[in-house]
Amino acid sequence: MRRTLIAGNWKMNGSRAALAELAGMANAAAEHPGVDVVVCPPATLIAASCDVRGDVIIGAQDCHAAAAGPYTGCLSAAMLIEAGATLSIVGHSERRTGQHETDAEVRAKAIAVMAAGMTAIVCVGETEAQRDAGDAMPVVAAQVAGSVPDEATADRLVVAYEPLWAIGTGRVPSIADVTEMHAMIRTRLAAKLGAETAAAVRILYGGSMNAGNAAALLAVADVDGGLVGGASLTADAFVPIIRAAA
Ligand code: 13P
Repeated sequence: MRRTLIAGNWKMNGSRAALAELAGMANAAAEHPGVDVVVCPPATLIAASCDVRGDVIIGAQDCHAAAAGPYTGCLSAAMLIEAGATLSIVGHSERRTGQHETDAEVRAKAIAVMAAGMTAIVCVGETEAQRDAGDAMPVVAAQVAGSVPDEATADRLVVAYEPLWAIGTGRVPSIADVTEMHAMIRTRLAAKLGAETAAAVRILYGGSMNAGNAAALLAVADVDGGLVGGASLTADAFVPIIRAAA
């Protein structure tokens, strides 16, 4: 009942030339109608991406919590929608770390995204030091408690578990660790949102997902898709992940 979702996060990569890659991804999305395919390009490419997206859902990488105001460099949900986005990542670890975003700020952003009618992908994940200390589960549980809005609905919320030490490193957690973490996240979502909603929310795995490891990760019971960074930049790298999800 949960449709598999494969989301590409281009981060601060890509120019108009990358739209040719997006066109290749759109072909794969058309061939695999059972998979929701998302690409989150840099905000400067959202509008142009919508011209070639086909069945690919175009998302943003961040969204300000306020509707408008003196927030230089930031973009509101309404602006992202006007550009053509229907989804936004919020609380990516690179923003939690680089922009010092707190759980409360991430929650406020998710509320703004959902209130505007978009879907929020709320990111959580532990650092290597936290995992080594045996704290991965409580750290992520606290992020879910603090970052996921109480009013979230299953059609507007996606959660992405991205251990920081797996992002861009080529390292991935063991299948047992992914299984344990995703099950815990769903239990925490049930406590917050109720069992029915929690059962319908997609929980993505992110961190060095690629053509070689996608099938095994996507086979885990509570893994409903992937949030893919480096391997989402070209059709050659991303399409095999879409295929693995089909
Ligand atoms: P990589 O797939 O490059 O490890 O990035 C994962 C990520 O941060 C996606 O949001």
